[in-house]
Amino acid sequence: MKLFGVLGDPVSHSLSPAMHNAAFKALGMDCEYHAFRVSADSLHDAIHGAFALGFGGLNLTIPLKEKALAIVKPTDLAKQIGAVNTVDFKNGIVGHNTDGLGARMALTENDVEIKGKKVLLLGAGGAARAIAFTLAAEGAIVTISNRTPERAFSLAKEVGKAGIISASGMEDLKNLVRNTDIIINSTAIGMFPGVSETLVTSDMMRTDLVVFDIVYNPINTRLLQEAKIAGAKTIDGVMMLVYQGAEAFKIWTGKTPPVDIMEKTVREELA
Ligand code: NAP
Repeated sequence: MKLFGVLGDPVSHSLSPAMHNAAFKALGMDCEYHAFRVSADSLHDAIHGAFALGFGGLNLTIPLKEKALAIVKPTDLAKQIGAVNTVDFKNGIVGHNTDGLGARMALTENDVEIKGKKVLLLGAGGAARAIAFTLAAEGAIVTISNRTPERAFSLAKEVGKAGIISASGMEDLKNLVRNTDIIINSTAIGMFPGVSETLVTSDMMRTDLVVFDIVYNPINTRLLQEAKIAGAKTIDGVMMLVYQGAEAFKIWTGKTPPVDIMEKTVREELA
């Protein structure tokens, strides 16, 4: 039996155990995945402990992704993004980042072109970091807009070598939305229990806009409801979660997991 886990604080809400256990079961693998509440202060011991115990791999969630950089050997991508969400133990303790790839795959499977497109990224937290870097590296023109403008400016500076990234506060969202092709919400706005909240309303949107909300609890966020009213294309947060998990699964096991089963499990858990 091989053990896997997600470390975070809080972590009881995580859908990763259900999603990965469904994939292990479907492939007939003798593996189990659990959630472990670990504080930032205990992260070093927890990662090294899992390594010593022979774990197959770990995921990291809030608030551990950035702190882990100094504990693991990060891949170039994780180093450039500035955060680790996946730890693999096959060749020492190596930290990967699969969040950006998850977001990119959620867009491309919905036939959304990235190269040359203007992306308005709302938020400058951990998830925004991976998305800004990945999409800018793929040729998008990214504007990071954050409630605390200083965080947007410092993130744009940190990941700016990936491509074209600018930063702004949120005072003039109407104008920012008018000048964008794709809106991505990576703030916590709209997440349970604040389900009636949104930063952008239908009167600010157009039919040729793509609106991607990475918040997945609830799946049909107020932002996505507003986008549907405006006739815009909508993408929910489930597939980013599934694809970042599927990539981690491949890194750990070398096997391609059943993405359809992982998606079904996540949607059932959220229903
Ligand atoms: P985080 O690092 O804590 O960042 C939170 C962001 O939300 C910050 O930019 C913060 O702005 C902003 N924010 C919070 N409250 C706000 C408010 N009232 N008004 C405006 N902005 C506000 O969190 P994270 O890890 O990036 O996660 C953000 C969301 O993405 C969460 O809902 C999480 O569940 C979701 N997520 C989804 C996936 C997926 O796979 N689908 C993956 C990761 C995260 P300030 O800087 O001003 O505080």
